[in-house]
Amino acid sequence: MKEKQLPPNLHRDTLAVRVALDPSQYGENSEALYLTSGFVQPDAETGARRFAGTEEGYTYGRTSNPTVTSFERRLAALEGTEAAIGASTGMGAILMMCMGLLKAGDHVICSRSMFGSTIALIGREFGKFGVETTFVSQTDVAEWKAALRPTTKLLFAETPTNPLTEVCDIAALAELAHSVGALLAVDNCFCSPALQRPAEFGADLIIHSGTKYLDGQGRVMAGAICGPSKIIVDVFGPMVRTAGMTLAPFNAWVVLKGLETLGIRMRAQCDNALEIAKWLETQPTVSRVYYPGLASHAQHDLAMRQQSGYGGAVVSFDVRGDDAATAQANAFKVINSAQVMSIATNLGDTKTIISHPGTTSHGRLTEAQRQAAGISQGLIRLAIGLDHTDDIKADLLRGLNNIQ
Ligand SMILES: *Cc1c(COP(=O)(O)O)cnc(C)c1O
Repeated sequence: MKEKQLPPNLHRDTLAVRVALDPSQYGENSEALYLTSGFVQPDAETGARRFAGTEEGYTYGRTSNPTVTSFERRLAALEGTEAAIGASTGMGAILMMCMGLLKAGDHVICSRSMFGSTIALIGREFGKFGVETTFVSQTDVAEWKAALRPTTKLLFAETPTNPLTEVCDIAALAELAHSVGALLAVDNCFCSPALQRPAEFGADLIIHSGTKYLDGQGRVMAGAICGPSKIIVDVFGPMVRTAGMTLAPFNAWVVLKGLETLGIRMRAQCDNALEIAKWLETQPTVSRVYYPGLASHAQHDLAMRQQSGYGGAVVSFDVRGDDAATAQANAFKVINSAQVMSIATNLGDTKTIISHPGTTSHGRLTEAQRQAAGISQGLIRLAIGLDHTDDIKADLLRGLNNIQ
């Protein structure tokens, strides 16, 4: 498991292409993909020590794999944490975190605006096992504070949120969590370590869906958790070995190579997103634009501080419409007029994606819940990729110019 020796104080862009395990005896420059479920032991004694965990070494693919280790080391280097552990998907990472940290009677505080599957997993599934969860405002720290209990073990936030790009104050939440001996976990999927490193603001654990920007080209599912070794290695390591939400080596390899271009992709996609967001604000058929990079965004200053001066690559906007039915018809017209953008619900791809949150990601909510969450029927989400901005503007105009 020897790591390549690198000089200290390298820049993040360099770490992104260099951090990995040593190459094999063949000296490959691009990291090897180790597709194997098992590892041959030199003798029975070594095998026994490796299984007991008293000696480093690979045994079985559910526990660890060298390609997965390279991905974990590289991601930890980018997030600035001691360690990272891979998971099969982003949700697999959240499952691993909850199974590793929580037991019946424990209490969790989450933002109401978190990813829908996260709310369902923690609020509903873990509720079955006696874990209680309070859902609070994304942006009002006083609500988080009021929700604290002696049994609170975990505060879990995501910033910015999907699709309204609301930003929470990581440092304030970390202070709150630590004041009662709880941990703060931050889902860093929307920014990636290229823009935002929650550990710098005091977050204990950082969750990733590698499926999004880390791969960046929409190819594989992957997840990870970053944090201190005493939690990642000592608590989550045994959990993944027992429960099996293991990251597949092929997927780890794809995401490992994706990390090499993460910085350059994110910066380019953010530049494109800012240009599109500013342009949307000038469109007569657009009533509101949600993007942290805009001065009109409610948490613009906080976002710029937390996100290295970038707004991210997700832009949402409301199209005009006097009532919900008209607004939805107008939004559908814009989406259906797209000839370049992909109609899909994922994000973090080089291909720009257009979606209608009200009938997809938030379609299972009641109308009252949707209104409380601020998701109108005229809302459109763009996950901006690397398409030329002129082509995206022209694609949007096909619909925006035809709204009633
Ligand atoms: C997609 C997503 C997840 C889940 O990741 P999967 O890899 O799809 O399981 C978690 N959090 C956020 C913010 C996401 O966008």
